[in-house]
Amino acid sequence: MPKTLFTKLALSLTVLLLGIGLLYSILSTYLTHHYQQEFLQHLNRHLASNLVTERELVHEGVLNQEALKKTFMHYMMVNPSIEIYLLDADGNILSFSAEPGKVKRKKVDMKPIMDFTEGKAFPLLGDDPRSFERNKIFSVAPISLSDGSMRYLYVVLRGEEYERVERLFQESFLLQLSGAAVFVSLLIGFIVGLLLFMVLTRRLQTLTQLMQQFSQSEFTQHNPYQQKSNKSSDEIDTLGYHYNSMAERIREQLKALKKQDELRRELVANVSHDLRTPLAALQGYIETLQLKAEGFDTATRAEYLDIALKHSQRLTRLVEELFELAKLEAKETQLHCEPFSLAELVQDVIQKFKLTAESGNIKLEMKAQKPLPFVNADIGLIERVLENLIANALRHTPAEGEITVMLKTNDTKVEIEVQDSGSGIAESELQNIFDRFYRVNNMERSSHHAGLGLSIAQRIVTMHGSKIRVTSKPGEGSRFIFDLPIYR
Ligand code: ADP
Repeated sequence: MPKTLFTKLALSLTVLLLGIGLLYSILSTYLTHHYQQEFLQHLNRHLASNLVTERELVHEGVLNQEALKKTFMHYMMVNPSIEIYLLDADGNILSFSAEPGKVKRKKVDMKPIMDFTEGKAFPLLGDDPRSFERNKIFSVAPISLSDGSMRYLYVVLRGEEYERVERLFQESFLLQLSGAAVFVSLLIGFIVGLLLFMVLTRRLQTLTQLMQQFSQSEFTQHNPYQQKSNKSSDEIDTLGYHYNSMAERIREQLKALKKQDELRRELVANVSHDLRTPLAALQGYIETLQLKAEGFDTATRAEYLDIALKHSQRLTRLVEELFELAKLEAKETQLHCEPFSLAELVQDVIQKFKLTAESGNIKLEMKAQKPLPFVNADIGLIERVLENLIANALRHTPAEGEITVMLKTNDTKVEIEVQDSGSGIAESELQNIFDRFYRVNNMERSSHHAGLGLSIAQRIVTMHGSKIRVTSKPGEGSRFIFDLPIYR
């Protein structure tokens, strides 16, 4: 079976044109023949009756046998394209103009003869007495005799002689020429058709090649399909256009999948590391206590227990944060937005951290533009964001430092800014701090902070249709900003 679309089309065209050629020759032969017969019969429709009157074949109601014989002889010699027969009312052949032995039938069918006399449409084919199978066009004239009987002068047109000459003509140059003309026009049609198919399928071939290259490159390298011109874009161009966007999409998704896979591996590695460290420490302290508890004084025992408790708290916090982030990322957490006063929420959160701030001698305050409209957000989740940002600021701000939560508003949003005068973050670190498990310095790795706080805050803010931005200068402090929509 042919493989390419072009060969399939070319093969179909060949079959089609051969079919057309065959149909054309059958049809033209049939129609020409039919037309010739009709034409000839029309032309000679009065031939028989003319013969009867001109040759005076009937004289006073009696057949003139002598005149009939002469007529037979005359036409045999002069016009062999017609054959003349005298029939009775039943179609029996009484006499004829032929050499003896030539005439095979004794009787001809009267039905077409009657049709002729009734004036039915030509061509009418009657029995050819010279053959048992052939039918031929004819002219007939009824002859009423004085004894009341009927005779018919039956003239077969296109007699044997005529057909012999016609066959000669059919093989003639003219006929061959018209056959050749048909052949040449079909050939030209074939060549033009092939050229057209070639032009049309070439772009499809290009597209197929591009797709093959794309799949062979494991869907990583995409050479886009180039449209010929913007104006005359057809179905192939549309296909190309959709292929381009599909391939681009596949490439991007594959890239995203790869990145996700890397992140997942990293996450598993980080989680197992972060869980293993406090677990190992916890186990170590408990085992030591179990083995040596009796040798320890109360203070040492309390200290060991304290350390074990801290490690278990770190574990709990880590597991909680992980669970929270997983829920946020799996989009399981639903937003329950409601109108509330952001200033009040910030005051509440500041209140929670008041003691820690005071013990560290850090000034923690809010500066809010007045009046401040209500925002429309999930109060519980926004509280979590504020807690994470303020906790971070407190952790990275030394004594005598300042932390300010500023609230500003414009027509549509309230902007929240958590600003500290702490250690700041190096420029190179800024883009990473929102990543899961990212901690800026190694000191923090051993602390109970897993590097999830900003990831959680970022997720929550994103769910609210906003984004956390950060500006920071090492040694001068950091500023985390996000906004929330005003409630209307
Ligand atoms: P964690 O939960 O461990 O605090 P985060 O995701 O909240 O982790 O923060 C990631 C990193 O960003 C931290 O390791 C910290 O070094 C840095 N960072 C966050 N907030 C501040 C800040 N206000 N000042 C300086 N560094 C900060």
